[in-house]
Amino acid sequence: MAVSLRDVRMIYRSGTRQVLALDDVSVDFPPGTFSAVMGPSGSGKSTLLHCAAGLDRPTGGVVSIAGTPLGDLDETALTRLRRDRVGFVFQAFNLVSSLSAAQNVALPLRLAGRRPAAGEVTAALAAVGLADRARHRPSELSGGEQQRVAIARALITRPAVVFADEPTGALDTRTSRQVLDLLRALVDEHGQTIVMVTHDPVAAAMADRVLLLADGRLAGELTGADAGAIA
Ligand code: ADP
Ligand code: ADP
Repeated sequence: MAVSLRDVRMIYRSGTRQVLALDDVSVDFPPGTFSAVMGPSGSGKSTLLHCAAGLDRPTGGVVSIAGTPLGDLDETALTRLRRDRVGFVFQAFNLVSSLSAAQNVALPLRLAGRRPAAGEVTAALAAVGLADRARHRPSELSGGEQQRVAIARALITRPAVVFADEPTGALDTRTSRQVLDLLRALVDEHGQTIVMVTHDPVAAAMADRVLLLADGRLAGELTGADAGAIA
């Protein structure tokens, strides 16, 4: 299993107030599947994504990535697993503005103390259709191109799973479409596993399955096609 959650519970405490953000959620994200997570604001989508990606530790339950239960790892080992096995794509792209597209894509390898192999970064940029933009800075790229650079960066370590948090949230309809087609192709052609939080039914329609969250619980599951029909 690329990622599995078993009875994952998350309670936020601030002062005397407690928020039950995830209420014993169990779900699997099998290799080579594209899952979308939808639900109203405050339903726990970000918390689910952060726990599944090892960014936050849940209050209870077990999250495993590629068979490793995250609770068994200390902070150093968890950081290493995230760096080596997980890719992230954010709504706001999160590219480094002073670096070229190629340098941004190479960043996860550099952070892992690796020098990119010849052609490795070029191949990653080519995979997202941006071979000719390698030397461009983010400010010289369109929003859709910036998000595709961010996707190439997320894929450069060949992660077990890519987590995407509203990846089309900052894009217009046409560039959203390009990014969604790319994510779909990664699953269909490379067997990538993707978990995407989205508010956008058009984005959810690209997924194999759409998990519906409500009040921190899984409230249902649709096919991508059904979610698209709601759009
Ligand atoms: P969504 O992504 O669906 O909008 P979140 O996972 O961000 O939902 O939040 C779920 C619930 O947990 C909400 O009630 C939210 O206010 C609360 N919450 C999220 N993060 C924190 C936090 N760091 N501290 C306290 N409450 C939080
Ligand atoms: P988004 O919908 O863009 O994910 P959120 O409002 O869900 O934005 O959360 C943004 C950040 O704020 C998250 O890191 C979350 O943990 C934190 N957060 C959300 N709700 C609360 C809250 N009630 N108290 C403290 N932090 C919160």
